[in-house]
Amino acid sequence: MAADPAPTATRDTDLDALLREVQRAARPAAARGHVADYIPALGELDPESFALAAVGMDGTVHGVGDLDEPFPVQSISKVFALTLAMQLVGQSGSVAERLWRRVGREPSGDPFNSLVQLERERGIPRNPMINSGALVVDDVLLSACEDPYAALRGLLSEVVGEPVAVDETVRRDEARTGYRNRALANLMRSFDNIDHEIDAVLDLYVFQCSLQLTTRQLARAVRFLANNGVDPATGTRILSPTLSRRVAAIMLTCGTYDAAGDFAYSVGLPCKSGVAGSICSLVPHEMGLAAWSPPLEPSGNSAAGKAALHELAERLELSIF
Ligand code: GLU
Repeated sequence: MAADPAPTATRDTDLDALLREVQRAARPAAARGHVADYIPALGELDPESFALAAVGMDGTVHGVGDLDEPFPVQSISKVFALTLAMQLVGQSGSVAERLWRRVGREPSGDPFNSLVQLERERGIPRNPMINSGALVVDDVLLSACEDPYAALRGLLSEVVGEPVAVDETVRRDEARTGYRNRALANLMRSFDNIDHEIDAVLDLYVFQCSLQLTTRQLARAVRFLANNGVDPATGTRILSPTLSRRVAAIMLTCGTYDAAGDFAYSVGLPCKSGVAGSICSLVPHEMGLAAWSPPLEPSGNSAAGKAALHELAERLELSIF
């Protein structure tokens, strides 16, 4: 059997130069993808945009491309909504158990907004990283949190280190056109898996999807998950080590829709993607990563973003496997 190729770089490599090489190698993959336009404002994203950032535990930023261009985080907000729910329900027996009776922890093998599985599985979403699962998490937040809007925005601002904004155009457009999400919420309510009014759950969900970050901020924001739950910038504990591992595990197995197996195979790191073309990832104990390029593969993941994370992980041997 042929030996595996040696990594072409080491941790001591000039990371900025390496990221430029990765950009050159990965960017053409964008031509295979299409910018999401089912939310009209997303259709206006520039298909040529590209950014890749790596932020170390000491805050050192390495990056290339449109690092400071904001985009709506979309599905990546599901990581932070789950983090908030985990903070609130913690590991405390019955409340946590109730959360995990309402949403599973298995990959879906179906598109992120699929209704089919929900009908077959009696309104219990496969995991919190697909839309139905995120709607259940939001339903939990509406019960557990006095002001879940402020709490979510506050958590994100805390780990980013500065206040985050909301893209009001995306928020409005998504609220107007979120027919499938409304269908998912109604279907789950028919199975008694949503407690609040559908409008209230959808409004919170659309709000979290419209929160805006840049690639630089996103790579910074995920570092607490690479650092046993502690934000390395401030030393603040966001999650216990156990819960932090669990969120990262759910990202690895469920964070990239029904391409999670392929991401584990070709990147080998916990990842979460969003339909605006961003993907965040983390290297345990080392760094937060984020890639952004709007054109998506049919699975809903950024084509060039995935190629970039693959290249980087290969060249630096970052896979956790
Ligand atoms: N707001 C998007 C939706 O609900 C999120 C999906 C995503 O980013 O994957 O369709």
